[in-house]
Amino acid sequence: MTQEVVTQYYRAPEILMGARHYSAAVDVWSVGCIFGELLGRRILFQAQSPVQQLELITELLGTPTLEDMRHACEGARTHMLRRAPKPPSLSALYTLSTHATHEAVHLLCQMLVFDPDKRISVIDALAHPYVDEGRLRYHSCMCKCCYTPSAGMRQYAAEFEPSAQQPFDDLWERKLTSVQQVKEEMHKFIAEQLQTGRVPLCINPQSAAFKSFASFSRQAMKKFQSEMKKRRVAALEQLQQQQQQQQQQQQQQLLQQCGQLIGSNSVDRIKLNRGAPLGAAALAPPVGMTAQ
Ligand SMILES: [Zn+2]
Repeated sequence: MTQEVVTQYYRAPEILMGARHYSAAVDVWSVGCIFGELLGRRILFQAQSPVQQLELITELLGTPTLEDMRHACEGARTHMLRRAPKPPSLSALYTLSTHATHEAVHLLCQMLVFDPDKRISVIDALAHPYVDEGRLRYHSCMCKCCYTPSAGMRQYAAEFEPSAQQPFDDLWERKLTSVQQVKEEMHKFIAEQLQTGRVPLCINPQSAAFKSFASFSRQAMKKFQSEMKKRRVAALEQLQQQQQQQQQQQQQQLLQQCGQLIGSNSVDRIKLNRGAPLGAAALAPPVGMTAQ
């Protein structure tokens, strides 16, 4: 079952290598994969199977040492040692995006560490200069906890990264045993959130940054809608053409059938008349002849 813990693309190497126990470090690995995906706009380790998944990871991080694989099961360790050793190629992370700054790559390298015990902790990751800078940007314009008086300096909240007052309790998850129940609980949760008037992620919809984001989204939507309209018109034209072709083919077939019934001489006469709509008169046998 351990293999099913996380979607394969985001699965930590210790789970891929059959570790019997795992810690919160598996989540740091997953977040690292998603961080890399956001930078590169594509899945960082997109493999078809768990074995290939491990292969892609070692291509980036290099072959792990025996010490790094101490949580792995015997079979996985043997498999890894049988393969030709690979050197790390972490500098490839700089090519993910123009946004892959030294700080970003530094944080990414600390999240994507093979040995879970050497992987950066959540607390240390939150204190990393990259996250710190993002946090400052967020509180300088988009948050709801700080404000700028009409005349004067921005007033910042006392705490930028408040800790939860109580540890997260996942007991409620245990009663969710069917998809239907999950749907009902989600619906209830959303309805409750709407009643409290809370804005998701504490984004301030009045901030300039949010407005520019929203207007960009509107422009993108308009472009998308006009593109869809063009495609609909093109599809309709194609359909009409196909229908016309089918009609012509049917007319041709009728003419041929007609020819078999009344002899080839008469068909020549009907062919001369092809421009006109093919009605009952055209199909009727010529005067003096009756179909048998
Ligand atoms: Zn704030």
